[in-house]
Amino acid sequence: MNKLTLTILSLLPVTILQGAPLPQGQGSQQMPPSFIEYLLRPKFIVMLVIGILVLVLLLTRSMKNSIKIPILLLSTFLFGIAGNLNINAFSSFSMHPSPVCAATKSILYGFRTPMVVTLVVISLLTLVGPKLFCGWICPLGAIQELIAMLADRLKIKRKKFNFSISQGIRVGLFILFIFLSGTALIHVVRGGRVIPVSIYDYVNAFHGLEFGIQNTLLDNIIHFLPFILTVGLAFVLYRPFCYYVCPLGLFTHVLEQVARFRVSLKKSKCNDCPVCIEKSPCPTVPDILKGSTLRPDCFSCNICVKTCPRDALVWGIKRVYRD
Ligand code: SF4
Ligand code: SF4
Repeated sequence: MNKLTLTILSLLPVTILQGAPLPQGQGSQQMPPSFIEYLLRPKFIVMLVIGILVLVLLLTRSMKNSIKIPILLLSTFLFGIAGNLNINAFSSFSMHPSPVCAATKSILYGFRTPMVVTLVVISLLTLVGPKLFCGWICPLGAIQELIAMLADRLKIKRKKFNFSISQGIRVGLFILFIFLSGTALIHVVRGGRVIPVSIYDYVNAFHGLEFGIQNTLLDNIIHFLPFILTVGLAFVLYRPFCYYVCPLGLFTHVLEQVARFRVSLKKSKCNDCPVCIEKSPCPTVPDILKGSTLRPDCFSCNICVKTCPRDALVWGIKRVYRD
């Protein structure tokens, strides 16, 4: 690892320890935290630090697997596992609200501060580099990325999928969610209030990152099955939950089209060998080569940039290299 990475990673434990809740009586118990107080929580600061670190490493061509794997493991641990451990220092790090909840509960129940801050941080990171949050910080994204790397190491052949189909399913689920939310066709009644059922509650793989056993067998199936399926399918499909299901993935897909930095093609260097298309896990590279305005999701995994034998794919400011 280079010096910059080591320095930034060594500062993270200090920020994390600052995340320990104050002892009883020292904190303000009455007022809910404001937007700024929430934004300044160590969890979000650590997310922004990881995002900036990744961007610098990508832009300086310093990203390697020996750095990538620890960053993905760190995100998996901090934002996916640590919240289950009942350790004070990590108590504020759990992925609550999860990206799926931030996107959908805001629509169902209104834009409350935790949801808004989560969405703002994710949006900022996505607008700087394509899916910097999804690619490097989201614990479910990190787990799927690590499994894809493991599958490559084990030489498990991954199925390339058609982006139009995955996007059709992802958009279809979202439209169904909006329809059911608007009509409350399927609902529960609580305290005399009619509450529409969210379709995402039944396909949300983030629930599997909350380890608690549920009351009934059916509840356990609903809670853990999407996560188990995601993990299993991630060996044969690249990021199945992100491409086929996640509503936040859909939102960041729209935002990433205007991201400041992205993978670009230096046409003069490209000799149309298909190495980058063959080696990359995503359905995005053909559109980068064609110079399409709208691209499928790019998770900033850096594989296409690393594998191009002529350095024709580079990280750069959007539209710099459309020669
Ligand atoms: S698309 Fe959803 S699950 Fe995938 S990385 Fe982004 S937020 Fe996480
Ligand atoms: S291979 Fe290239 S285009 Fe595909 S997700 Fe990774 S960085 Fe993005």
